[in-house]
Amino acid sequence: MESTNIYLRNTLSGKKEPFQTLEAEHIRMYACGVTTYDESHIGHAMQAIFFDVMRTYFEHKGFKVTYVRNFTDVDDKIIDRAKKLGVSPLKLSEDMVEATRRDMKALGVRPATYEPRVTETMPNIIAMIQRLIEHGAAYKTPKGDIYYKVSNKKDYGKLSNRKPEELRSGTRDLAETDKEDELDFALWKADASSEASWDSPWGRGRPGWHIECSAMAKLYLGETLDIHGGGRDLVFPHHENEIAQSESANKVPFAKVWLHSGLLTIDNQKMSKSLGNQISIREFLKDWHPEVLRLAFLQNHYGSNVNFSQDVFRNCRKRLFYFYESLRELDHRVKEGKENGDALPQEDREIQLFVDNVDAAMRDDFNTPVVLAEFSKFVRWANQRLMDPKKGAAFFKRIADTLRQTAKFLGLFQKSPGEFIELHKSKVLSDLGLSEDELLQQIALRQKARERRDWEKSDEIRATLLEKGVVLHDRPEGTLWTISP
Ligand SMILES: [Zn+2]
Repeated sequence: MESTNIYLRNTLSGKKEPFQTLEAEHIRMYACGVTTYDESHIGHAMQAIFFDVMRTYFEHKGFKVTYVRNFTDVDDKIIDRAKKLGVSPLKLSEDMVEATRRDMKALGVRPATYEPRVTETMPNIIAMIQRLIEHGAAYKTPKGDIYYKVSNKKDYGKLSNRKPEELRSGTRDLAETDKEDELDFALWKADASSEASWDSPWGRGRPGWHIECSAMAKLYLGETLDIHGGGRDLVFPHHENEIAQSESANKVPFAKVWLHSGLLTIDNQKMSKSLGNQISIREFLKDWHPEVLRLAFLQNHYGSNVNFSQDVFRNCRKRLFYFYESLRELDHRVKEGKENGDALPQEDREIQLFVDNVDAAMRDDFNTPVVLAEFSKFVRWANQRLMDPKKGAAFFKRIADTLRQTAKFLGLFQKSPGEFIELHKSKVLSDLGLSEDELLQQIALRQKARERRDWEKSDEIRATLLEKGVVLHDRPEGTLWTISP
């Protein structure tokens, strides 16, 4: 085991622990991907974005990361929806894999190192089921299904803190299946009729949901992983069952650390198709910039539940706009090219402190709300430095570079400030209750007042705009506006 100076809250132990990797400078990480029966929604984006940030941060720290995120492209939900749509389940899956890739790319979520699919991993899935049968951890029922025998695993329930005797309610109807124990779960479902079926030593059929992740993780990452992740709703039964299968088959611990992202609600309601409040990533991106969604998530710790509303998105857009305005100003001063005015020792310390504080917060179980608070503090400080006309290009370049570089693993502030501002200024102004025309009119009126040395009127216009959240800056080339933080 190799020490790192990173601390992670491990669902398995329930504690924040020093993170140790199995191999020096290499992290093997698995996160459960989507079931490809429909387009991905922003709940899927939540998990994808948080794990993307973790992975990118690890790389930023110099680790090699092998990251696997699967596609569940065989599932009852896919078969059901395909039937309704009158298409083949494999075609529906293929389309949804493509749609998910398109959406993730648009969100700036990088492809995983490996993105295996169930349909491509069938031999490994079958081999693992066979091994479980050989070990006495699985059995075939008279109907021809294969079930995992939960009573075989002495520590079953260790991830979700459940005890088999408590889970055994006795109320579940066993009549429909021929499994031996209500806790046993399917590894292979006999099915000769469906198009989505494959040959196996037990006849035609398809794998259960849980076994695919155990098989894919083993194929690409080995028998023990550094990190296994997913949404909190997967802890039980999915992840509990993955542990049972993998550990019964491989006889070694499955994952050292389990990380779970929280759940997303919209206006305090669970997202669901029936409530009509599900927002697909594609729909979301019609109205909002992808960095708005990232910021909206990263304002929260990955493990906490997140609630979204239109106000949350509007506030994030405004916050991004403010950051981009500051970047534009920094870039402007760099372009001016004024020499001298380098950093004072105290300013050097401030810049280094920002970088160190961000890193300390990231090392503390990816505390992104604290990271973003550090960004706000640093940008405020940078804006104060911008008021100093004596400061030179090299100084502002250092600040701008530090901001961009430090925000890189968050996937924020990576666009051109001018483009972002152009694209969003009318929306942000409208959120402040102003139109761009109105604002430009007020700026022109104030200009005229200043020309006739009517300072009272000029100050009044400035104050009224400030009350609405717009700050005016008088420059030799004219008056520029920004929004207040
Ligand atoms: Zn999984």
